[in-house]
Amino acid sequence: MALQYRLPTEHEELRRTVEKFAQEAVAPVIGDYYERHAFPYPLVREMAGMGLFGLPFPEEYGGMGGDYLALCVALEELARVDSSLAITLEAAVSLGAMPIFRFGTEEQKRRWLPRLCSGEALGAFGLTEPECGSDASGTRTTAVRDGDHWVINGTKSFITNSGTEITDLVTVTAVTGRKADGSPEISTIVVPSGTPGFTVAAPYSKVGWNASDTRELSFSDVRVPLENLLGAEGRGYAQFLRILDEGRIAISALATGLAQGCVDESVRYAAERRAFGRPIGENQAIAFKLADMETRAHTARLAWRDAAARLLAGEPFKKEAAIAKLYSSEIAVTNAREATQIHGGYGFMNEYPVARMWRDSKILEIGEGTSEVQRMLIARELMGRGRD
Ligand SMILES: Cc1cc2nc3c(=O)[nH]c(=O)nc-3n(C[C@H](O)[C@H](O)[C@H](O)COP(=O)(O)OP(=O)(O)OC[C@H]3O[C@@H](n4cnc5c(N)ncnc54)[C@H](O)[C@@H]3O)c2cc1C
Repeated sequence: MALQYRLPTEHEELRRTVEKFAQEAVAPVIGDYYERHAFPYPLVREMAGMGLFGLPFPEEYGGMGGDYLALCVALEELARVDSSLAITLEAAVSLGAMPIFRFGTEEQKRRWLPRLCSGEALGAFGLTEPECGSDASGTRTTAVRDGDHWVINGTKSFITNSGTEITDLVTVTAVTGRKADGSPEISTIVVPSGTPGFTVAAPYSKVGWNASDTRELSFSDVRVPLENLLGAEGRGYAQFLRILDEGRIAISALATGLAQGCVDESVRYAAERRAFGRPIGENQAIAFKLADMETRAHTARLAWRDAAARLLAGEPFKKEAAIAKLYSSEIAVTNAREATQIHGGYGFMNEYPVARMWRDSKILEIGEGTSEVQRMLIARELMGRGRD
């Protein structure tokens, strides 16, 4: 396999375009949305105009004809400046549209993907429930056949992009039967926004990602046509494992971006801020922090690009994706803590980007599989039990 650590020309051009957008259009205004816990519709519209929501999808469904690497490159550059927009893009593409692209019928793809790829509409993925996150086999939401409809009942927690003004649908996992051993048979079903009985709660009050949309969803006798099932009945568990494996590479790229953003901000500040008659960066204690932060961000980038290269080459990538997600999320937290330290008291003020990065970093160790879950996956692969 030819591992590529340098970006191909078109990906490098994309990286520069998103970098420019993040620095010129996002950086000056995102703090205000964040403080108001407001969803940044104008910025999302601009991202849509740039084609970011269609990056890894074929042109026949309204996509840009790119690949998963392109999505990850865009996520890293966005998260260097702001994680709320980055997670909005990540969830819309990797969790909202990707299950339809990977598992949908031709008719389902043609029906739902064009609006999602154009960014006119957002999709969401509802796996987590109040009583189960890491252990998705504990899903309690049910979908029961009634004539030519599914009748869905249950609750989903912490669902990203599920309640914006432009959310078209949420794909939910639900128990549709029992296997011979009594374990649940889980399927994935698309529920369009506005379906009667489908209630979207007010946004959560969160520690970070404050300019992104996260909500609890309730389903009370929600009826959707049988043809809203994605893929074969009972394949939901395998489907979301695949979606989460890929998604971890995307989250890793996002975490790397945050870690690099901490370096960017800290290098600038360490050169400007003076104490004891000289810039603080001239103290070895600060300079070594910067060197360690850069080393961590660089290593994290290599890790996610390795996992992405394996994915694109059609090779197994589960372990490498888990390693990348585990490492990059933990170093994002470390870099955010160090960046705040370098900024002193100003680092604790919300007007400084590092304060936002500090608040946004912690969730990276939790979402799309906690650090403990990543360690379980890596260990299982090492012991040869993860090949299913
Ligand atoms: C802002 C935000 C956005 C999110 N967006 C989405 C979304 O769009 N869609 C979606 O479906 N979900 C989403 N989530 C949910 C997220 O994926 C879950 O919170 C996460 O998977 C953890 O699940 P949990 O919260 O139920 O924790 P639990 O599974 O209850 O875990 C609690 C703790 O126990 C540990 N633990 C659990 N089992 C083990 C074990 N066997 N060994 C060792 N430790 C263990 C965990 O690692 C964790 O530290 C989001 C969450 C947040 C906060």
